Amino acid sequence: MPEIDVIVIGGGLAGLTSAIHLSKEGVRVLLIEKNDYPKHKVCGEYVSNEVLPYLNYLGFNPFDFGAKHISEFELTTHNNKSISAKLPLGGFGMSRYEMDFQLYQLALKNNVEVLCDTVTNVSIKNDMFRIATKSNKDIQAKLVLGAFGKRSNLDAKFQRKFMTKKSPYLGVKIHVSGQFSEEKVALHNFKGGYCGMSKVENGNINLCYITNYEAFKKYKDIETFQEEVLFKNMALKEVFKNSKPKFEKPLAISQISFETKKPVENHMIMCGDSAGMIHPLCGNGMGMAIRSSQLASQLIIDYLKEKIKTREELEKAYTIHWKKAFNFRLKAGHTIAYLFRQDWLAPKLLVFLRWFSFLVPQIIKMTHGKPMKV
Ligand SMILES: Cc1cc2nc3c(=O)[nH]c(=O)nc-3n(C[C@H](O)[C@H](O)[C@H](O)COP(=O)(O)OP(=O)(O)OC[C@H]3O[C@@H](n4cnc5c(N)ncnc54)[C@H](O)[C@@H]3O)c2cc1C
Repeated sequence: MPEIDVIVIGGGLAGLTSAIHLSKEGVRVLLIEKNDYPKHKVCGEYVSNEVLPYLNYLGFNPFDFGAKHISEFELTTHNNKSISAKLPLGGFGMSRYEMDFQLYQLALKNNVEVLCDTVTNVSIKNDMFRIATKSNKDIQAKLVLGAFGKRSNLDAKFQRKFMTKKSPYLGVKIHVSGQFSEEKVALHNFKGGYCGMSKVENGNINLCYITNYEAFKKYKDIETFQEEVLFKNMALKEVFKNSKPKFEKPLAISQISFETKKPVENHMIMCGDSAGMIHPLCGNGMGMAIRSSQLASQLIIDYLKEKIKTREELEKAYTIHWKKAFNFRLKAGHTIAYLFRQDWLAPKLLVFLRWFSFLVPQIIKMTHGKPMKV
């Protein structure tokens, strides 16, 4: 293996975009991802347009692969009250199966070395990082970028604080074929959770919901839960009942945590969900993942070019910039999700927003950023 400047752990959106950015600037990057591409992931698959200028700079245009333009937003409550609005910036619909795969192809084109393996340990000695993998590889690099997602074996290894707290959320996703507007992303609430709906590149509708385990455990399986809880919302019932599943069974993940994390852990620069996760209700986790990788890549390049003199300085600068970019969004996202989780309050909020509809784009803006500068 040639000498490596940066090892990126995790090849989701954060890992792939930072690997591409770094390699474009001549940095020697090794990206380690535990799964093969392409692969479906539990995700709402609505991406805010704020990332488009940066994706284009990296050489990726989602519309070349059939992504759908999305400009409208609909919100319904568990008792069938609804509101619609134009999205301030808009976004696009693209499956993670396709988007991660295409970015992976681009990373390869940019000479990123990609290894399919699971990182099991990261240590640092004499200013050099050393990583160990499941298949007994031992690799050294000047820096390690942690982009290993919302919950990983490495979070347990480093005893990150959020791992000690119970995370009651689980997520379910399925692609279906059926009738749904291409321009719309809908957020349909039900008691104990909410379901995002939008179209992706191949015309399928992505249905992805998140619920808390308390609400779910009273029912014996996903089908009964959907029938008894989700379908009280008529908009959900309509699409679920009149569409055909494209997966044999839905994908499900559990223990989703929204606890605060640190943007630098064990001297690793953390990106995407590894650094902090916004409620999916805000539809901007992917935007945050991509923006944080730009932030990290720019500072890492400055460090490798010795514009930033020490690793300590790099860690400090990244922490400050990360907090400035994301702390407010995260807080706003948590508050909005908390308010809409209150079954008694959500319908009242919706009536209020119908009266003061000009507030809807303002609320959306609180959890999103301006188009990224390149
Ligand atoms: C139910 C739900 C709905 C959502 N809907 C939306 C939405 O509509 N819009 C939006 O913008 N965001 C949404 N999000 C958030 C979005 O999915 C995440 O913010 C985004 O995937 C973060 O990207 P990432 O690269 O940080 O992590 P990931 O995409 O999870 O990538 C992490 C990668 O690291 C790999 N990995 C982990 N550990 C190791 C290891 N030890 N060694 C090697 N590889 C490893 C994993 O295999 C994985 O591929 C949603 C999230 C959930 C849970």
